[in-house]
Amino acid sequence: MSKERLIARRRRALGPTYTHFYTDPLYLVRGEGVWLFDNEGRKYLDCYNNVPSVGHCHPHVVEALTRQAATLNTHTRYLHHNVVEYAERLTATLPGELSVCLFVCTGSEANDLAYRIARAATGNAGAICTRGAYHGNTTLVSELSPEFERKRPAPDFVVDVEPPDLYRGSYAAGEPGAAVKYADLVDNAIDELADKGHRPAMMIIDSIFDAAGVHTPPPEYQQRVHEKVRAAGGLIVCDEVQAGLTRLGDHYWGFMDSGVQPDIVTMGKPMGAGHPLAVVVTTPAIADAFARETDYFNTFGGNPVSAAVGMAVLDVVEEESLLASVNRTGSHFIAGLQSLATRHARIGDIRGKGLFIAVELVEDRQTRQPASAAAAAVVESLREQGVLTALIGRDRNTLKFRPPLVFQVEHADIALAALDSALSAFD
Ligand code: PMP
Repeated sequence: MSKERLIARRRRALGPTYTHFYTDPLYLVRGEGVWLFDNEGRKYLDCYNNVPSVGHCHPHVVEALTRQAATLNTHTRYLHHNVVEYAERLTATLPGELSVCLFVCTGSEANDLAYRIARAATGNAGAICTRGAYHGNTTLVSELSPEFERKRPAPDFVVDVEPPDLYRGSYAAGEPGAAVKYADLVDNAIDELADKGHRPAMMIIDSIFDAAGVHTPPPEYQQRVHEKVRAAGGLIVCDEVQAGLTRLGDHYWGFMDSGVQPDIVTMGKPMGAGHPLAVVVTTPAIADAFARETDYFNTFGGNPVSAAVGMAVLDVVEEESLLASVNRTGSHFIAGLQSLATRHARIGDIRGKGLFIAVELVEDRQTRQPASAAAAAVVESLREQGVLTALIGRDRNTLKFRPPLVFQVEHADIALAALDSALSAFD
């Protein structure tokens, strides 16, 4: 089918709310490892997609999925060993008491369930989220996803707080105590909730603030925020939907970089490498409190096929030593970007870690004025050169490199060469 015809049919069948990347959208037909192929057989390096965590169509994952699909697929009201084995393997990668898994199908559902659990465990209803965040698309979770500008006032039990943006936020990187100042904003949020008659049930924190422009929370920020929310009677929910499963390169889970231990962890996207698998992990005491309030059942969450896929993904992460590989490739990528910054004045900031890297483009390094038009043109130029990425952040001037975890040094070199060429149009 021609691309033009598919675009017209899609517009009629799916309606206008669906958007797509690129002025001329990509029509992808096949994926393999870090490579994607379009309908004309053109090959692209995938520098953007985190869902195919262990690479597109990894044979081990495909084999596990098809084998279990050909054997049995039911739900968690019957006994099956896969879901138990997967929960045990998953929680073995987590610290402390984080040992109970509740299975869902999407990150949105995971965060929605996390709030219900936090409410049951604390008896409170308040929720604190960070400005610019995206945590999902349910009615509740969309209220916790302000993405900068709220279209309507937040419900009275939700309060936003500014995340630690050390480049363009209220407190800059060089400013003494910037991380502490950002953490102290949580005091105001707790007071604001109290004014509206609420105590916090939870604060939801990204282990890397992706939608706000890829900001890594300083350990001190995380530690202080955890203390403040707990002192006010709330729980900490770490959203690992983006940062989890070795992506940040030092630990399996992003929050571990800060030496903190959340009460609830939510996981999604990369866990099933494309299969809809998402999880809420919490402590036995908190899981018991939730069980006292309600039974929990999710028709598709935790089915034997999903669990088989989840285990196959964990196999690959271990067998291909992805934690070490992410660390190595990420450091190489960031060093390459720093070298590009010596030649291209549009590069205002390079941030992130592991394989979660952002490059913020500016008109001028002094004023830090966002170079949004240049950023859009760079994304298109990269695509022309066979490299896929996209923009992030309020001003859409930040390039996001968040490839499958199996991305290697030679792939980073291809992306760097393409970026070098794309940026030279703006020197
Ligand atoms: N949390 C974060 C941090 C996310 O980035 C997303 C999706 N972009 C979600 C939750 C929601 O996940 P899903 O789209 O699977 O519902």
